[in-house]
Amino acid sequence: MENAIDFQLLNDEPWDCLIIGAGLAGTAAALRLSQLNLRVLLVERARFPRDKVCGGCLNQRAIDILMRLGMRDAVVQAGAVSQAALELATTDQRIRLAVPTGLSISRAALDTLMSEAVIDAGGCFVDGTKAVLGDVDGGHRIVTLYSDDGQKTVRARTVLAADGLHGGTLRSAGHEPRIAADARVGAGTVLPAGSVRIEPGVIRMAIAVGGYVGAAMVEAGRIDVAAAFDPSFLRECNGPADAANKILMSAGYAPVPVEASTKWKGTPPLTRRATVLGAERVLVLGDAAGYIEPFTGEGMAWALTSGYAVAPLVEHAVSHDVPLPLQEWRNVYRGHVGSRQLVCRGVATLLRYPLAVRMFLRALGWQPGLATPLIRYINTPAF
Ligand SMILES: Cc1cc2nc3c(=O)[nH]c(=O)nc-3n(C[C@H](O)[C@H](O)[C@H](O)COP(=O)(O)OP(=O)(O)OC[C@H]3O[C@@H](n4cnc5c(N)ncnc54)[C@H](O)[C@@H]3O)c2cc1C
Repeated sequence: MENAIDFQLLNDEPWDCLIIGAGLAGTAAALRLSQLNLRVLLVERARFPRDKVCGGCLNQRAIDILMRLGMRDAVVQAGAVSQAALELATTDQRIRLAVPTGLSISRAALDTLMSEAVIDAGGCFVDGTKAVLGDVDGGHRIVTLYSDDGQKTVRARTVLAADGLHGGTLRSAGHEPRIAADARVGAGTVLPAGSVRIEPGVIRMAIAVGGYVGAAMVEAGRIDVAAAFDPSFLRECNGPADAANKILMSAGYAPVPVEASTKWKGTPPLTRRATVLGAERVLVLGDAAGYIEPFTGEGMAWALTSGYAVAPLVEHAVSHDVPLPLQEWRNVYRGHVGSRQLVCRGVATLLRYPLAVRMFLRALGWQPGLATPLIRYINTPAF
């Protein structure tokens, strides 16, 4: 990525905040903290732009945080597509619900835009670099950075672990996340424009016993396809493309042409909860703090909200030279994200029962207003 700073140029001066992971939780926190004039280093393992398994659909709650960060217009200018309807389909039913207008954009484009904004706001960003948390040394956390260019040890007053589902920042201290016994796994790809016929403005969701597949148009007419599968169903299929096509076809949709979808990426088990939300000089946020499978499409709102909400706590700790308030972060996180994930968990549980899904869709077909409270709840701004 053009604007990222060279790994070799990192100096020894301690950082006010080092953020591990440049997904939406990490970039939101880094951007807010840079705007608050803290000395911020955002470290990302992948080289940007990078694809990430995600449906790319931003709801109103997510857009509100983007607006607070001054990023909404940039996302629209980057070609995000407005989405105002959700189409749910199973073997024998298809319904369309109006939803508050959201935006769809690939994560390669969105996360790159966010990390560029961090740099524009005065923060530093290094990609292609893995961060590993070290010990506390006096008033700092030691973090070791590994890149193709070598290894470097840096110090930070505070560290934010925003390293997503794959991240293991606090694992070295023995804090393994709790994975749900029925956790599904995710998979996704972004297809070239025209490879699937889908209306701009409509998010498509095909639901079957083994999982569900979402599809939406993103920038430049490309199609983002993202799915959650039961691991047992995925094992029966010939890879994620085959699994997605089985579900799409069972719901009456055309399959994704094989030649258009060779680049599928997968995820570890989705539904999980971190056993701790921090340690000395460290707070955990975004998917790394906890995630529920993606049916309600709220993960980016949760990540952005946690990144935005953690910033004042970090700013206070740095400017008053006091410890990060772990208990306060637990309360803030539970209020803004944890409690809301319970609703998503309820919906995810319902999806395990085909009869319940059929009855639910039949009821919505007859009376679409039944979905209004849930849709409104999901889209309500956090602040
Ligand atoms: C199938 C699927 C569909 C989804 N669809 C939607 C949707 O339509 N709408 C929605 O709102 N949400 C959706 N989500 C959820 C959403 O993608 C996530 O909740 C969101 O990306 C979480 O952001 P994050 O910043 O916490 O983690 P991530 O976006 O995963 O970012 C974490 C980053 O940390 C980096 N990293 C990890 N370890 C290290 C390390 N040691 N050093 C440096 N960097 C590191 C990773 O490379 C990664 O870039 C979907 C998820 C799945 C699986």
